Amino acid sequence: MSTPATWVLASANKGKAAEMHTMLAGHDITLVSMAEFDVASPAEQAITFVENALTKARTVAKATGRPALADDSGLCVDALGGAPGIYSARYAGVHGDDDANNERLLNELAHVSESERTAAFHATIVVCQSENDPAPLIAQGVWRGHIATTARGDHGFGYDPLFIDRQSGLGAAEMTPELKNQRSHRSRACRRLLELLDD
Ligand code: IMP
Repeated sequence: MSTPATWVLASANKGKAAEMHTMLAGHDITLVSMAEFDVASPAEQAITFVENALTKARTVAKATGRPALADDSGLCVDALGGAPGIYSARYAGVHGDDDANNERLLNELAHVSESERTAAFHATIVVCQSENDPAPLIAQGVWRGHIATTARGDHGFGYDPLFIDRQSGLGAAEMTPELKNQRSHRSRACRRLLELLDD
């Protein structure tokens, strides 16, 4: 990437924001919080991560007059037909209630055997240079694993206590932030975004 970039981060989720800052640090990209512009999070009304991320980036670019980066992500469980998917943050009804979401997930999978508890975290990152950007950058990342039968570890956020990394067998919440940032769906999407910037 030739010139430094400043993007408004279209997310109010502190866990995700901290991860994005770390992963993009050292790449001439400055993320400023949308809280500095008094912009509300746009509603997520589409049925795919990419549509939701695009809407968020476009809406925040329009409201701030600045380039905006949005991320939409969630957990897709095979035995549940991809649920909670785009509803991950509000699976149990209240947006952002991680404990209730994890409890519901365990209940839904109560009779599902270990070999059938496969799942993946998905992340889509979109950067819109402006409200009318005809060619937004779109980067996606997938992290495969399975859902544990009880919570493990105390790092991270969201479904981390129940998600087990396929490659290492470690729980996402058992990983240091540094290790999670190497393995995660969001880090894969960030790496892809950096590749797109270099294209
Ligand atoms: P979003 O703000 O609509 O992208 O919500 C994503 C939701 O998916 C979060 O609130 C979490 O419930 C879940 N999620 C996404 N990424 C992660 C992660 O890295 N760890 C745990 N849960 C995640």
